[in-house]
Amino acid sequence: MHTITLINGDGIGPEISDSVVKIIEKSGLDINWDIQTAGSDVIEAEGSPLPQRVLDSIKKNKVALKAPVTTPIGKGFRSVNVQLRKSLDLYANLRPCKNLPGVKTKFDDVDLVVVRENTEDLYAGIEEQIDVDTAHSIKVITRKASERICKFAFDYAVKNGRHEVCVVTKANIMKLSDGLFLESFRDVAKNYPQIKTREILVDNLCMQLVQKPSQFDVLVLPNLYGDIVSDLCAGLIGGLGVAQGANIGLDYAVFEPVHGSAPDIKGQNKANPTALLLSAIEMLKYIGEFAYADKIEKALFKTLSQGEKTCDLGGNLSTTEFTDKMIANLE
Ligand code: ATP
Repeated sequence: MHTITLINGDGIGPEISDSVVKIIEKSGLDINWDIQTAGSDVIEAEGSPLPQRVLDSIKKNKVALKAPVTTPIGKGFRSVNVQLRKSLDLYANLRPCKNLPGVKTKFDDVDLVVVRENTEDLYAGIEEQIDVDTAHSIKVITRKASERICKFAFDYAVKNGRHEVCVVTKANIMKLSDGLFLESFRDVAKNYPQIKTREILVDNLCMQLVQKPSQFDVLVLPNLYGDIVSDLCAGLIGGLGVAQGANIGLDYAVFEPVHGSAPDIKGQNKANPTALLLSAIEMLKYIGEFAYADKIEKALFKTLSQGEKTCDLGGNLSTTEFTDKMIANLE
């Protein structure tokens, strides 16, 4: 039996993780969930939103499913998500974006994958108050991190039958930092002659994405552009409620939706569990449980195709009603 760390998060986290755990259980797959609390709720008792026991659990189990966790603003705590990625060296953020049956969007041919560098860039957290009217944030780009994320993108392309990897930068302006990312991409690309390459500036990419997203296959980006572009791509396929993600390193992997803890709809039984469910489906593939992944994915597609949806997708089902419909469709 697999033992997997489950961080059920806060805000809508517990509602959507209950749903996903129930769906996986009803699919017939036995998972031993090592449940770990994190976020604002544990600060008072444990002094940190990300206690060491959570990291220890992931280190032991190697794989985690994570619902959104809120980092309180302005209380001196580092973002839980950033800390988790750094501590476990989860250097690749993977966000596949593909249309879902039954979810109507402007385009019906989106099938791309965003590969975002996860450890440096402006997220390195190096900031300096120069004087009361001036602040600096340092953008850090290294050859080592750039090469390994580009390699990850090409390896992903090879393993998943993708044809092209497109590197996204603003190297015409940030000639040194983005220039280094681009140079690393070109170096790594030489080892993958079977994969086509493309280079694009991030502003042009945004325009192209909202005009003709089907022209893109795998995108590889430094951290900040990756963050922004992956939300844009989530919008292309129906919004945050259906956008899955994963943070992957050499030793550990944490699967989590793109969205945050949505405090505005917390406790209202309204949240869409699909993004966490799709992340869990990727997780099942990662641990080799392809048959269960397939079974759950088929049930999801069937449920959405039947028009059974939560409010964010224009439907009228509550989280628990959607979960029950999903379970009824597991064959
Ligand atoms: P963060 O900064 O943590 O990403 P945020 O406030 O920017 O958080 P979210 O918490 O992701 O963003 O919420 C953005 C909007 O999307 C909110 O109005 C929220 O209700 C909605 N939303 C997010 N996730 C879901 C979901 N799973 N189901 C339904 N609505 C959602």
